[in-house]
Amino acid sequence: MSLDLDKRQRAMLREMGVRVWQPMPVVAEVQPVEAAINTIATGARIERAQPRFDAEKPVVAPARTAPAPVAAPAPRQVPGLPPRPAGIDRMDWSALQAAVSGCRACALCESRKNTVFGVGPAAADGVAPQVDWLIVGEAPGENEDLAGEPFVGQAGKLLDNMLLAIGLQRGDDAPARTGASRSVFITNVLKCRPPANRNPEPAEVAQCEPYLKRQVELLRPKMILALGKFAAQSLLQDSVPEVQKIPLGKLRGQVHHYLGVPVVVSYHPAYLLRSLGDKAKAWDDLCLALSVAPTVVRSA
Ligand code: SF4
Repeated sequence: MSLDLDKRQRAMLREMGVRVWQPMPVVAEVQPVEAAINTIATGARIERAQPRFDAEKPVVAPARTAPAPVAAPAPRQVPGLPPRPAGIDRMDWSALQAAVSGCRACALCESRKNTVFGVGPAAADGVAPQVDWLIVGEAPGENEDLAGEPFVGQAGKLLDNMLLAIGLQRGDDAPARTGASRSVFITNVLKCRPPANRNPEPAEVAQCEPYLKRQVELLRPKMILALGKFAAQSLLQDSVPEVQKIPLGKLRGQVHHYLGVPVVVSYHPAYLLRSLGDKAKAWDDLCLALSVAPTVVRSA
């Protein structure tokens, strides 16, 4: 079976820096066309999960059947740190945004310029936007801290191109791209920047976790894409034993769950900028996620 990429997907993959090679058909006696293998970049096979993305033939939107929420243990207050705002688990979207914006529950509040709640379609009257996909990264960096928005700069551009390759477009501000859906929300595990872009401390992750948990409960996405080690560890800590000891590569290639929502693990775009050879694996991850939660693509 061959990978059926249309012109627009190929253009997006080029923007991601992923080269798609498709062999010329050969005569049937020598090798059937169906036997041709599609490779990306380093030659990784990607025929396992084909995106159902086709701008010419819009995918019919299925009824929104978000996964039923699954109860998770209430996050405990981290000893020695200031208390979080009360009642996070009952907040609506506006209250949650306000709670994050005023949060002083760990030391990261001292050095941040802005909190970074996330970006997606506009919310109305305290109700979370309706999105099918949730992208979870690690923590804001310098640019994100200044902008108050996740995934800006080069890593953000790469993420945007990856999302466009599967028919998703961030936010409401930029002009709509033909055939792209805005049914995606992008956030991080930590809502404030660790100084000098150091790794998040376990206590900071634990203290910030209720905000992400509540975002998932309110957004009720059909797919969570966990980008990077800290996102994977934070989301899978209750479902994968000793997840902290498992390399990211071994968490890829399977569908996990968080609060009943399917989770696919992949590489952080900042890592992909340094490790070009792994872009093919990231595309494979996107295809896996897409096979679980097809993007609803609308023609212009
Ligand atoms: S990182 Fe999270 S817990 Fe810490 S101050 Fe920011 S919002 Fe609060």
